[in-house]
Formats: sequence, C-alpha cells, structure tokens
Amino acid sequence: MKIAIDGPAGSGKSTIARALAERCGMTYLDTGAMYRSVTWACLRDGVDPSDLAAVADTAARSDVRFVREKDGSQRVLLDGEDVTAQIRTPEVDRSVSIVSAVPAVRALMVERQRALAGEGDVVAEGRDIGTVVFPDAEVKVFLTADPRARAHRRAVQRAGGDAAAGVAAEVDPEQERAILEGIERRDRIDSTRETTPLRRADDAHLLDSSDLTVEQELEQIMGLIAA
Ligand code: C5P
Repeated sequence: MKIAIDGPAGSGKSTIARALAERCGMTYLDTGAMYRSVTWACLRDGVDPSDLAAVADTAARSDVRFVREKDGSQRVLLDGEDVTAQIRTPEVDRSVSIVSAVPAVRALMVERQRALAGEGDVVAEGRDIGTVVFPDAEVKVFLTADPRARAHRRAVQRAGGDAAAGVAAEVDPEQERAILEGIERRDRIDSTRETTPLRRADDAHLLDSSDLTVEQELEQIMGLIAA
C-alpha cells in the first residue's frame, strides 16, 4: 500500500506522515530530505544552484540514505556523512527550491524514490507524490494550512517548542516574519516551476490543518485508509 501526503512548506506533512507510518507499521519516506541533501551537496561542493548541468551532475553523484534509529527517528546520510541537521539550515531552505526545479534532478529523485519504496507499504511525503511518484497510491492527502499558521509552527519549532504537542516556546516576531517570507517564496517557486509544479492530485483529499490538532488530522486520514 502507498499513502501520498503532499502539500506546501510547513503544512505539517512530516509530523503526520511519520505518525501515520508508525501507527500503520509502514515505512516513512521523506522525499524533501532527498532534495535537501542534493542541495547541501551543491553548497558543500561550491556548485552554483542555478548552474543546471553542475546541479544535475552533483545529484547523480550523491548517495542519499536513510537510517532508522531504535527510537523511531530517522537520520539522513549523504555520501556516508550524517547531514540530518545540516539539511534543515536556512542556507538549504533558501536554495532547495531552485535545485529541485531542475528537471534532471526531479527525474533522478523520482526514480530513486520508487526504488526505495519498492513493493513495500510506504507513507511518502513531498510535493509530487500523488501526481507523479505514486499516481496509483491508495490514499492521497493534500495538506494545507494558512501560511501564518505554518510560519508560526516553524518558529515555535526553531525556538525549541512543539505546537502539536502543546510545548510552548518564546517566539521572536522578527524571526517568524522571516520564516513566513521564506515559506511564501518557496511555495511560489515550487508551484510555478515548469517541471511538475506543486499541485493537488485530482483524487487527493484536501485537508486544512490550520485549526486541527495532529490527532484530529490522523483520525481523518485513518478514516480514509479504512474506507
Ligand atoms: O518537504 P520539505 O519542505 O523538506 O521540502 C523541501 C523542498 O524540496 C521543497 O520546498 C521543494 O522545493 C522540494 N521538494 C520537491 N518535491 C518533493 C519534495 C520536496 O520539489 N517531492
């Protein structure tokens, strides 16, 4: 079985996809981490993200692997190096949409994602899972949320809190504004690129998480799986 969770930046896809995978005993596939790792490889190697050929070459040479820890968390290895933290930095946030708009990079990532999933039961999250990677997925969800709600969640996370778990944190309004700008910029590039722009698959269920708890979102998706 394949479950596709797509949506814009910061809509809560990772939290939901991870929890769903754990609850259903399925494998979690974070496709954003793959695009982020290629972006990190470009930054590491001094490759200009707008140099299409060099970016495609870097992607082809990159070896991205996921390692599952006993506590259920996941580490990302790029060419054998642990880059779990590096791929979440503002530098990567700024360049990842440029890198992932390169057609050759997308073709390669889609191929690798299908190979990683194989015939197994997978919850995959990204931007093109329901439209391109697994168009035959049994359950497709397009997760959205108001951009301000998404920026606030990210700001709370960065400040060490967890809005979903009710863990508060002091948020710097300047930082929250910068996060909102970054999210809106990324959404703009992701949804206007020529190759497979971010869009809801016709048969995906639209779920607005702005006013829902993680548990409520999970309940709705579990209902779709059972249907
Ligand atoms: O999901 P996450 O925010 O980590 O994704 C980072 C970026 O990777 C997105 O903004 C998008 O540019 C790219 N991406 C993509 N297709 C996917 C997953 C991520 O283009 N399936």
